[in-house]
Amino acid sequence: MTTKQGARLLIIYTGGTIGMIENPVTHALQPFDFSHLIDNVPKVKMLGYDIDNIQFNPPIDSSNMSPEHWSEIACAIGEHYDDYDGFVVLHGTDTMAFTASALSFMLEHLRKPVIITGSQLPIGEVRTDGEENLITALQVAAAVDAQGAPMVQEVAILFNDSLLRGNRSSKMSADNFNAFKSNNYPELARIGLAITFLEKNLYRSCDDEKLKVHTALDTDVIFIELYPGLSEQTLRHMLNTPHIKGVVLKTYGAGNAPNEPWFIGAVSEAVNRGLVVLNVTQCANGGVNNTLYETGNSLAAAGVVSGHDMTSEAAITKLMYLFGQGLSGDEVRRALLTDMRGEVTVAGKGRN
Ligand code: ASP
Repeated sequence: MTTKQGARLLIIYTGGTIGMIENPVTHALQPFDFSHLIDNVPKVKMLGYDIDNIQFNPPIDSSNMSPEHWSEIACAIGEHYDDYDGFVVLHGTDTMAFTASALSFMLEHLRKPVIITGSQLPIGEVRTDGEENLITALQVAAAVDAQGAPMVQEVAILFNDSLLRGNRSSKMSADNFNAFKSNNYPELARIGLAITFLEKNLYRSCDDEKLKVHTALDTDVIFIELYPGLSEQTLRHMLNTPHIKGVVLKTYGAGNAPNEPWFIGAVSEAVNRGLVVLNVTQCANGGVNNTLYETGNSLAAAGVVSGHDMTSEAAITKLMYLFGQGLSGDEVRRALLTDMRGEVTVAGKGRN
């Protein structure tokens, strides 16, 4: 791996366990400021990069992350895009995959690294994973290819021993250091003794346009997760939630749902009313194949759009982004079937 000498990097510290310290009274972890965080990693200076930082005031636990915060991060990147070679976002792990997915849609034509990382243990703890994650994220953000162009030109999550596409990632463990997985897309880099990029897996946008930051997100979207015992009354209640425009339906296996008339009836009525219903699987691995079983087929016949192998984090933020663009229901349905930022495997498409 080659890194740019004296690379200029911007760290955006939003909060999360990585920067937390123990409250002496309650012993609960609470976010602390950036100087505390960086004082605990003197090795950062040894990298020889030119690093500036911006911090959320106050830093937050990522359970409090919101689309307004996503806009704050996206705008900071947009505003300083030409001043830096790369961006490192320090973030709590709980909603990191949602932020990574949202930013991937919000930062159109991105050609620089936006590397999101955090840690399972606070950076001041002896066994912390934060120090290594931070240092590696900075190195990844400074990495260049043989032509001197940024190696990573997308939003990615760096955690433990891998670099993953942000909108393909999910938090899989509340206590392992290896907390994130990208089950339907290979790693972008392996972090071992060396940082080994898997170049064919990296996203490259196919146009030359300038970065466009989209901050309009429409949050009139919900998840409905299927479970045996879901009643017609509850389902109809959720589908009739006031104002909603889109639903991510988390189905069983390869995109299956009950094919009983009450279920299909409620869903097709909602679709006919104009609701966009997007089918993603509850399984961590694999995707929707609604031609495999009759139970999946009936959903497709009811007008439910296949989310293929998208993560639920990518699915809900893609809906927010598309509705935020002011698109009609039909336009959103069409856009959902396209791969916009490498978030979905669309048949017949090569490297994404
Ligand atoms: N609750 C923390 C957060 O997401 C957990 C973490 O950072 O790992 O902010």
